[in-house]
Amino acid sequence: MCRLLLLHKKGYMCMFSFCKIISVHTLPVRLSTMKCVILLVLLAYVRSAPMSKQQAMTYLEKYGYMPSHDESKFRESMMKFQEFMGLPMTGKMNAASETVMKMRRCGMPDMDPAQHQRRRKRYALQGSRWRTKAVTYKVTNYSSKLRRDVIDKELKESFDIWAQHLNTMFTPETSGKVNIDVGFFSGYHNDGGEFDGAGQVLAHAFYPIFGGNVHFDEDEEWTSGEERGTNFKQVAIHEIGHSLGLKHSNDRNAIMYPTYRRYIPNPSLGMDDITGIRRLYTKASSYPKI
Ligand SMILES: [Zn+2]
Ligand SMILES: [Zn+2]
Repeated sequence: MCRLLLLHKKGYMCMFSFCKIISVHTLPVRLSTMKCVILLVLLAYVRSAPMSKQQAMTYLEKYGYMPSHDESKFRESMMKFQEFMGLPMTGKMNAASETVMKMRRCGMPDMDPAQHQRRRKRYALQGSRWRTKAVTYKVTNYSSKLRRDVIDKELKESFDIWAQHLNTMFTPETSGKVNIDVGFFSGYHNDGGEFDGAGQVLAHAFYPIFGGNVHFDEDEEWTSGEERGTNFKQVAIHEIGHSLGLKHSNDRNAIMYPTYRRYIPNPSLGMDDITGIRRLYTKASSYPKI
């Protein structure tokens, strides 16, 4: 009797007997199927495995809650994270915090590690902005997951969503030098912001002072107008917000909130995003009515 030891996705070992289903003629096919099953079960196990304290510390450090990988700062950093995400501030790892830490999200930090004061529930400005009223952009690397015309259309709509609140025009170009380069990349791509394969980090962008470029993780399952996968337009609107000078907001209704929680059929800006972008680009006395 042949038996395979498999790691069950809940984390304990279980035994499967395949004797009755494997015949001599179907063995090669069955073996490759079995490899796939083992891989899927292992992947499910890794995704659902409890997060270790070290992994939580890596997350806190990466997203600006912890100044360095210092265990003595864990409680304080955890409380900053919980406050930002609107979770009960226990300072301890718990199921709610772990769930948020495992969500798909933007790769940009949520706060400045040197920030000691409690943050108000609102947008945050990085400090730089575009000085020109005519910003151009170009897709330098398209994705294999979405058609080019879909990317072009949804990118234009995403820029236009911000443009409604600014006195700035965003124009797509197909060649030549532009203000903002947009592209899909896998893993390390020469900018210090390595992507991590499918899941977790979806994209990142540069603030205007650093060039404003927008990068998407090519390994995600990018989709358009459906629940499945990750909705490209939702992420594009968020990343363009960084490219215009906005940091992450801790307002859960803001497009600049850092995690991807669910599919939104018609993504738009929250009141917090609009207030933030107007403060950055418009004189207070000339704010147009919302
Ligand atoms: Zn972001
Ligand atoms: Zn990048």
